[in-house]
Amino acid sequence: MIPWNYTQFKQIAQNILEDNRKWSAQGKVADYIPELKKGDPNAMALVLASRDGSLVVGDCDRLFTLQSISKILTLMIALEDQGPAKVFFHVGKEPTGDPFNSIAKLETTATARPLNPMINAGAIAVCSLIKGKNSDDKIKRVLEFISMVVEREVTINAEVYQSEKETGHRNRALAYFMKDTEVLEGDVEDVLDLYFKQCAIEVSCEELAKIGLFIAKKGELTNGRRMVQRDTVRLVTTFMVTCGMYNASGEFAINAGIPAKSGVSGAIVAAVPNYLGIGTYGPALDEKGNSISGVHMLADLADQLGLSIF
Ligand code: GLN
Repeated sequence: MIPWNYTQFKQIAQNILEDNRKWSAQGKVADYIPELKKGDPNAMALVLASRDGSLVVGDCDRLFTLQSISKILTLMIALEDQGPAKVFFHVGKEPTGDPFNSIAKLETTATARPLNPMINAGAIAVCSLIKGKNSDDKIKRVLEFISMVVEREVTINAEVYQSEKETGHRNRALAYFMKDTEVLEGDVEDVLDLYFKQCAIEVSCEELAKIGLFIAKKGELTNGRRMVQRDTVRLVTTFMVTCGMYNASGEFAINAGIPAKSGVSGAIVAAVPNYLGIGTYGPALDEKGNSISGVHMLADLADQLGLSIF
C-alpha cells in the first residue's frame, strides 16, 4: 500500500476516472424504480478519504440515494440493538449467487431465513429488528446515525421514496412471504416503509467516502469517537466482501479485493481497512446491478495503489 500522497493520488484518481469513462455507454440506468431513471448515465465521481483528508474528482456536487448501501448501515444498527445472535436467527450469513431481489431461495432454504443481510429479503428482515416505536421513530434513528458518520444532517429524497413505495411490489412480496414464515417481526407495511425510506436517503460521493472511512476505521468517527463496536464493523465488512456486490461479489473480490457495497442508484462505497474510504458514482449499471464505471474504477485503483486485502 502506498502512503497517502494527495498530489500523486489526485493525479492517479483523475486518470482512472477518465480512463473508465468509456464504460458508462455500455451500462444502463436503473428504471424499475421510476424516479431512478432521472440518473445521468454519463455522470462519474470518485472520492478517496483518509485520516489526512479527502480528494474528489468528477461530478462530486451531485446527491444520490443510498439504495442498497443503506443495508450495511441498518445492519450495524440492528447488530448494536439486538446483538449478533438475534440478528442471525432472522438472517443468514451465506452468499446466494442470485440477483439481489430474488425470491427463489426464500422458499427452498430449509430455515426459510433470507440467506444474508445484503439481499433485499435479508435487509427487510434486518429492518424489523431495529428498535423504535414505529417506522418514523426508527428512520429517525437511522438518519441520526448516518448524519453523525457523514457530518451533515442527511434527509430522504421524497420522490425516490414515493416512487419505490408505489412500485416496490417485489419487495412487498418478499416481506409478506417472510411474515408468513415468521422471519419478519411486526407490521409488514411499517417494516417496508422503513426499508423504502432508508434506500431513499441522499448523500454525496464525498459523504459516501466518509462512510467508507468510518468502516475502514472500524467504527470510529473522524474525531475519534466510537459509534459502534469493532465487532459490528468486522461482521459488516465481511458481508461486504462476500455479498456486497450481489452475485458479482466473487468476481469483484478477485478484480478489486476491497470490501465494498453497491446500490442501484449507481453508487459504491468501499473500505480499505485502517487506510481509506472510497466513494464512486456512475448511474449506468452492469447486468448485475453494479455501477459499471464504479467497478472498473475500483479495480484500477486497487491495482495502482495496491489496495487488495488479499
Ligand atoms: N431500493 C432498491 C430495491 O429494493 C435497492 C436495491 C439495490 O440497490 N440493489 O430494489
